[in-house]
Order: sequence, then C-alpha cells, then structure tokens
Amino acid sequence: MKIYNTMTRQKEEFVPVEAGKVKIYVCGPTVYDYFHLGNARPFITFDTLRRYLEYKGYKVTFVQNFTDIDDKVINRANLQHVSTKDLSEHYIREYYIDADGLNVERADFQPRATDTIPEIIKMIQTLIDKGYAYVSDDGVYFSTHKFPEYGKLSGYNVEDLEEGAGNRALNGESKQHPSDFALWKRKKEGEPYWESPWGEGRPGWHIECSAMAFKYLGETIDIHGGGQDLVFPHHENEIAQSEACSGHVFAKYWMHNGFINIDNAKMAKSKGNFFTVRDLAKHYDYMVIRFFMLNCQYRSPINFSRDLLNAAQTGWERIVTCIENARFYLDQATGQEAVYKKSGLADKSQAAVRAFETAMDDDLNTADAMAAIFDFVRDINTAVVEEDDQDPEELRQALATLLKLLDVLGLKIPQSGAIPEEITALVRERSEAKVQHNYQLADDIRTKIEAAGYQVEDTPQGPKVSAK
Ligand SMILES: [Zn+2]
Repeated sequence: MKIYNTMTRQKEEFVPVEAGKVKIYVCGPTVYDYFHLGNARPFITFDTLRRYLEYKGYKVTFVQNFTDIDDKVINRANLQHVSTKDLSEHYIREYYIDADGLNVERADFQPRATDTIPEIIKMIQTLIDKGYAYVSDDGVYFSTHKFPEYGKLSGYNVEDLEEGAGNRALNGESKQHPSDFALWKRKKEGEPYWESPWGEGRPGWHIECSAMAFKYLGETIDIHGGGQDLVFPHHENEIAQSEACSGHVFAKYWMHNGFINIDNAKMAKSKGNFFTVRDLAKHYDYMVIRFFMLNCQYRSPINFSRDLLNAAQTGWERIVTCIENARFYLDQATGQEAVYKKSGLADKSQAAVRAFETAMDDDLNTADAMAAIFDFVRDINTAVVEEDDQDPEELRQALATLLKLLDVLGLKIPQSGAIPEEITALVRERSEAKVQHNYQLADDIRTKIEAAGYQVEDTPQGPKVSAK
C-alpha cells in the first residue's frame, strides 16, 4: 500500500516499524461543542484507514485523544457556569452519539488530556533537563531555536516565522522567541489547575498528544493523522517535543486530510455556513454523511452543499436497494423446481475486489474504490433484475463480497427490516385472495397493510414487503 507522507511530500510504500503491526495516533476533538462536518472528516478518514489495514491483516492499535482542557473549553464552561469537567464529559458523550452513528469504531485508547497530567509533567521535565525547554514567569516554553529540525514537516523555518513579527508575536507571553510555544501554562484567575514542579497550572495543547502517543504507543509510531490545518503549528510542535525528548523519529508517516468547503467557501462559524453533524443527521441518515465523505479521496478538498448531499443520498439508496433486491431474490429462491444458471457474477466479484484493493492501496483512494463498488452494484442488479434464473449460490457469494467491501469503508447496510408476523400473514391472505380472483378482498388487504406503515409490491418472484 502507498501512503502520501506529508513529511516527504510524496507517496511512499507503507512499511510498518514492526512487521504485521500498525500504531496509529490521530488528534481527536476538543470537547466543548458538537462536532461539525470539518471535524468529522478525519474521524471518518482514519477510521477507514484503520479498517482497511485490518482487512489487509495488520494488527492495528489506534489512539485518538480528547482535548478536555484548553481555552475554548474554559471559556465555554465559564459562559455556561459549569465546570470544565462537566462540560467536556457532556460533549464526550455527545461525540460518541455522532461517531457511533457514523460507524466510527471506538479507538483502542481514548485518553483525556486531564488523565495524562503525570506523563505530561514527566515529559516537560525531560525537555527542561535536556536543555530544550525553559521556565519563565508564566509557564514553561519549548525553545524552537534549540531544535535544528524545527519546521521540517511544514516547510517553515524559525527565521522566516519570526521575521518582522517583532514583539507582537510574543502574544503577551513571557517567552524568549516568538516561535517558542507553551508546554505548561501557569494558572490564571478562575482557571482549573494541576500541581507541577513549576507551580499550579495546566498543560499546553501540543504536549498532550506527544505524551499520550508515548504512553500508549511508544516513542516511534507508524502513522500520525489529522486535518491539514494541524500541520502547523500543532504537528510541527509535536515532532519537536517528541523527538527532542526521545532522540528518535516520532512518526514514520504523516497523513493529513483536506478541508471541507461549504458552497465553495471555507467553512467558518463566523460566516454562518457551519454544519454540525448532529444537525445534518436530523435530515439525513448518518450513513449518507459517511458515504458523501468517502466519495472524495481524503486529501482532496470537499465541496459541500445540500444538493451534493442529496445526490449522495440517491447514490447510497442505489446501493441499499441493490442489496435489498438481492436478499429478496435469495429469500424467494427455493432451489428446488427451478433450473438456475451462473451468470458470471463470481468473476465479477473477483474483479470488484481487485479494483477496490488497487484503489485503496493507492493512498486510500476511496473515490475510486466507490466507483468499483458501483460497477459491482450494476453487475448484481443485472443478475437479479434481468435474469430470473440467476444461480442463488453465486448471488449469495457476490452479495457477501459486496457487504464485505462496504464494511471496509464502514458503510453499514440497514438489516432487512424485520416484517411483523401480522403483516406477513396479511400478505399471505392477499396472495390467497388473488389466486381465488377475489380482487376486491386483495385490494382491501393491501389498504390494511399500507395503513400499518408497510408497502407491498408484486414482483416476478412474488410479493415483496417493505416498511414505507
Ligand atoms: Zn494532536
């Protein structure tokens, strides 16, 4: 498999540090609100990566953190007169509702920053001891000038960053250089705090990810992921801290997903073109949102509009309908009196798997993988709709393959809705009535079925019932 590595700016063959195992760290949400569409993209992207690596036989360990202490959390908690703990725990629960809906698998470890304080303090102390960090009036800072490789991920260098910035760039913080960044912030009035060798305070944002990655995955991980907006300064700073501390490469591959534009403009709260996943899920199935996202390769920008989401809904329904039809065909096929023929679906299944894997091996190209799935859906539709002598066993295997590929993308097909026994009984009565040419009765029964929220459709394989 090839992965585009932001560090080297090219696609590279993926070779894990340890054969057969993959360690992934992805920056998680700051839990002070519902997450929006832009936040959802890395969740879906890296969940899909994880699923695909598992499909390829790797043992994956996946860590995604919750940032439960920072300025946004503190400000929102103050505004709502609740503790930062209560606020963040509330939005962690809300996160799971949406993430579960999007079928994002739970990470193996989902640490909170506030549960990692001892490890963070230890790491900062090591950086001070090694001369990479210094204590000042308002906290502890990392000295970017002491780390010669600073800027290697983003392509910035310290001089350019500081040129012309002057004292303004010190941001009111007492640090030696504008590009130095906070590892520990001394307590301000009204803020939650923890004890440390440098006084009461709280960790800076960047250090939590380094400390958690070290704690749960070790000093060198395989893949570090996040949104493109995190390349600088967040990931640049993670690299500086981690590598200065350990003396080893922090992550072999850096993967970053692209932005989401709303009606061709950058999504921003201030522009009012801002959609939370929770709001969208009131109008669309969560699977439609995931499907919409996966129709783009993860590095390409996505343009979002209602029209495009509606189009995604139509596309998703085509897949669901194909599967329902195939299941119905299989339910009706008794395999006794009929003479069945193989239609070549077995070969088409193999071709679909090959095309799917080729696409996914090329830097997780889910757009091409989806195209392979649609070709396969067309093949299955042809076999089910146009042939009435399709061999059920061949169809059964093709359907299993299709469901497997969808599962790798995290796309969950609703179980064929269980039809209540009383409705099935009505359908049987109606068929009886039709056999006896009692069409009035048959129509009355249909009305009853519809009144109960179901619809019945007559097909060559017999009556097909579904929820309306
Ligand atoms: Zn991070």
